[in-house]
Amino acid sequence: MNIENDLKLDYSNVLLRPKRSTLGSRKEVRLERTHTFRNSKLNFERIPIMAANMDGVGTMDMADTMGRLNMFTCLIKTYSIKELVGFFVDNPERAEYTAYSMGIMEADASKFRAVFSGAPMIKYLCIDVANGYSERFLNYVASVREEYPHLTIIAGNVVTADQTQELLLRGADIVKVGIGPGSVCTTRIQTGVGYPQLSAVMECADAAHGLDGHVIADGGCTCPGDVAKAFAGGADFVMLGGMLAGHDEGGGKVITKHYANGEATLLDNGNYAPHYEERKFVQFYGMSSEAANDKHFGGLKEYRSSEGREVLVPYRGAVESTVRDLLGGIRSSCTYVGANKLKHLPKCTTFIRCLDTHNRVYE
Ligand code: 5GP
Repeated sequence: MNIENDLKLDYSNVLLRPKRSTLGSRKEVRLERTHTFRNSKLNFERIPIMAANMDGVGTMDMADTMGRLNMFTCLIKTYSIKELVGFFVDNPERAEYTAYSMGIMEADASKFRAVFSGAPMIKYLCIDVANGYSERFLNYVASVREEYPHLTIIAGNVVTADQTQELLLRGADIVKVGIGPGSVCTTRIQTGVGYPQLSAVMECADAAHGLDGHVIADGGCTCPGDVAKAFAGGADFVMLGGMLAGHDEGGGKVITKHYANGEATLLDNGNYAPHYEERKFVQFYGMSSEAANDKHFGGLKEYRSSEGREVLVPYRGAVESTVRDLLGGIRSSCTYVGANKLKHLPKCTTFIRCLDTHNRVYE
């Protein structure tokens, strides 16, 4: 047994130190990035924020909206072959901003073969497992690379430099980083396994960049400032689940509830009439939660336990206003530290370790 004594950090353990700069306005900040991938040699030129392949987030509707806003989406795995082929064939431009997601069973490989033969314009493939440390996963990534030399392969999830490099060498272009930080994830509670997300991103990005690879900071962002910290720590992309949940594009059912809000009106007869408030919610759950297993796999297998939770998140309408607020926050972070491009954010960053990041008195 070993102990690593180095303190590892989460987004909530740091702030970005402001710096003098010549930047006039946050309007001047360029958020688009240009990436060329190490194995596929394809180019990416968009704002490197991705909607996660989760129910209620990684939908086709979300992909089109994120695409229009110059961002990216990893589709959920459960669309049918027909739906997927139709989606890409109807508008081949979608292949620029949408990844096809798959697991590592033989059925996943044969489904993708069928989709790809009908929709050969697909460019991005996201091979996604909860635990990216198995030999089987590495071999699977290698076999997909052999079969599809020209596709951009996203693979994960891992949290350490060694496995990031191993994945890149086996054929991945982009490594997805994050075990346990997600908003509806219970892996750390259920298994005790994980790695503080900011340190994981910093260490994996450093390892990947040495091999011309890229990383996605996946999970754990709760506010625009966290997304800025992920980019500042070296993430090439940031993937969001919870921050994009609860919107129209996710397609979840809107649930209306009524709450007595504690206020009342005094009536002429001396009685009080309580006030009720209407609030709208949308269901959101982890993709390893019991809810997801019930929906997609006919229940949780008896040898497994759920590693995700199910919550109701406030309904927030169209995703565009949430995204604009997010991009405004990141532009502002760049302005504070003097980065005129998102690309320059890491080199302009000094993280300040702190015990608390903000005032919660009115939260
Ligand atoms: P969020 O942005 O909500 O904090 O995190 C989103 C990420 O959480 C996803 O991209 C995925 O990597 C991870 N995730 C989604 N569902 C589950 C789950 O049920 N269990 C675990 N451990 N992680 C999940």
